[in-house]
Amino acid sequence: MPSEHAQLLALPGIGEYTAAAVASFAYRQRHAVLDTNVRRVFARAATGIQYPPNATTAAERKLARALLPDEDEQAARWAAATMELGALVCTAKSEDCTRCPISEQCAWRLAGKPPHQGPPRRGQTYAGTDRQVRGRLLAVLRESVNPVPQSALDAVWEEPVQRARALDGLVADGLVEPLAGGQYRLPLT
Ligand code: SF4
Repeated sequence: MPSEHAQLLALPGIGEYTAAAVASFAYRQRHAVLDTNVRRVFARAATGIQYPPNATTAAERKLARALLPDEDEQAARWAAATMELGALVCTAKSEDCTRCPISEQCAWRLAGKPPHQGPPRRGQTYAGTDRQVRGRLLAVLRESVNPVPQSALDAVWEEPVQRARALDGLVADGLVEPLAGGQYRLPLT
């Protein structure tokens, strides 16, 4: 097993996370190890949001590198510690801030723990997702032989921003056809 990050990354089946984890944990090198738990801790403690984006972003990588201690051994301990913190204390389902060693510096806690504002999280149940809204909108259109007014679609979902986003998506995907006068129908085949 090579010890250099670049060589590890070149191995088949080894991705960014695994290469960094092996180089850090096994060879005590300085690498940003960004797994789900670490990303959640950084999102809360440093960025002040409840959950990180669904996929790792350039901004998260930059933040992780900026937070990494300079010295190799310390950086390796930091990587393990942040991972453990996310796995055991700052979990996805519940955060135990009373046991957290960085609670005094945590931006999300200090901001009053504002709820997640981003898109539905991967792994979230069907309930409450854009997919559910899309399904309800399509059901209204399927059940009507005539074009339906906007008001009939508005009735299926209370939250206006999510409802509009779902309808826009259906139109963009060619699954719903907007008509003059604010009416909608399924595309004619
Ligand atoms: S203070 Fe709470 S929310 Fe912030 S990192 Fe610690 S456990 Fe997570």
